[in-house]
Amino acid sequence: MQSQAPLVYIITYGCKVNYYESEAVASQLDAMGIPNQMVADGAISRLPHAAGFVVNSCAVTSMAEKKSRYGVSKIKKYHPQAILVGMGCAFGRKTPEMVALEIADKIKAGQSRVTDTVTVQHRREKAFIKVQDGCQNFCTYCIIPHLRNKLSYRPIDEVVAEIKAQGSHVTSVVLCGINLCYYPHFDELCRAVDACGIAWEISSLEPPMMTAQLIDTLRQCSHFVPHFHICLQSGSDAVLTAMNRHYTTAQYAEIIASLRAAFINATFGTDLIVGFPTETQADFETTLNYLQTLKLDHVHIFPYSPRTGTPAAKMKPIPNHIVTARFDKIRFTLFPYYDK
Ligand code: SF4
Repeated sequence: MQSQAPLVYIITYGCKVNYYESEAVASQLDAMGIPNQMVADGAISRLPHAAGFVVNSCAVTSMAEKKSRYGVSKIKKYHPQAILVGMGCAFGRKTPEMVALEIADKIKAGQSRVTDTVTVQHRREKAFIKVQDGCQNFCTYCIIPHLRNKLSYRPIDEVVAEIKAQGSHVTSVVLCGINLCYYPHFDELCRAVDACGIAWEISSLEPPMMTAQLIDTLRQCSHFVPHFHICLQSGSDAVLTAMNRHYTTAQYAEIIASLRAAFINATFGTDLIVGFPTETQADFETTLNYLQTLKLDHVHIFPYSPRTGTPAAKMKPIPNHIVTARFDKIRFTLFPYYDK
């Protein structure tokens, strides 16, 4: 519903699952006849006035949470009259239906009823399709299991129906979740999505998921785009143990080697935390050397961010100047083209 000036702007921070849930809010508002638009937080000061804002927040790092809260303060500064509804990991978990109803109620617009039969209509060319929610791995640095603990997954036929319901502007889809390890029979989902005949890929993967069976299934999927973002977090086995991560660097390297053998055009990405409290200088050097051997295409490097309520937040932190030095050494030494 693009013709009328938007009554509601939707701003999203964080992961692909958050972008999916924002699209779900937008589709609900469309169904209720409330003009809306998804915008980047950088546009807040330039936007024409609107009745309301939905802010979909992130809490994975303290920086992410700060950005979400800063977005709210900018809205209050540039759009003091606007109604504000928060959602997401930093502002409290609400379903897209609840958010749509709340903002519709507050701005007194639209048919104030939501239907859970609304199929999300994705506006992006590459549509993020949420298939799973929740994580109970409790990596010692991670706040997510404390915020998104409840496990759930969407039935295969529901995911397929959503993919088939998209407009022709959607040219590819990305299956996403909080931890796809918790999606039962993930390979069956992969086959069913491949049968939709659209290019598709998988967002972040945890190493234990990369079994020979799944690799074989993906090799048989003709529409699968072989980009693998498999979260490593550290190149030191001692640090992986302290992080409560359930694989070794040898196993991780084996996974990468198997995927390289199975997909000649595969690309690889990962997430890496530097400065985890127990990371010694030797652990860091081990990580540096290990990354050199892996030769991944890109790495998202995160300086360790203590999250209150996690076991790691109770550990003695490494001084900031050392964390920054390690961050820069990886960034500038190994990845001059590093994307922040
Ligand atoms: S797998 Fe670990 S890092 Fe990922 S969401 Fe779960 S607890 Fe957090």
